[in-house]
Amino acid sequence: MASADSWDPPASSRDWQYVVLHHSATDEGDVASIDAADRKRRDQFGAAWPGIGYHFVIGNGQGMTDGRVEPTFRWQQQLHGAHANSQAHNRTGIGICVVGDCDASPPTPRQVAAAKRLLEWLSVRYGISPDHVVRHADIAATRCPGRKFPFEELREALPAPVGASSGRSHEELF
Ligand SMILES: [Zn+2]
Repeated sequence: MASADSWDPPASSRDWQYVVLHHSATDEGDVASIDAADRKRRDQFGAAWPGIGYHFVIGNGQGMTDGRVEPTFRWQQQLHGAHANSQAHNRTGIGICVVGDCDASPPTPRQVAAAKRLLEWLSVRYGISPDHVVRHADIAATRCPGRKFPFEELREALPAPVGASSGRSHEELF
């Protein structure tokens, strides 16, 4: 389990505005396998991608430890992403890939727990509000991250934006 501190990038941070959630749409995978696949892709100018398009990958126990969060070179170097089919979201959106085919089955409990920790850390660190945490399908014509991806559960686990009411009475806190 990565400690939150290890997610701090060595490069100075970009001005992140969004988090975009993806699945790998494969049964197994890790940073290296996704990196190898993405290097075969070409951008709109015909240039080969420099590597994996996501900023973080969360393993499912098939090719990568279940629930392990691995930052990619795009996060370490604070580079734009190549994951969103949207220039704005590639420039300002942090791409997270959950390994697995979430159209067929939901992510593992450890993946869900890891995604919650990562989303919480990112939203606090960069001031990203819950409505800026989106699915790939919310911004592009795709089914990614799949029908069984627990989006509402993840979003409900996010801390409320600063200044927003929690909606709870004091009594409920006891
Ligand atoms: Zn996607």
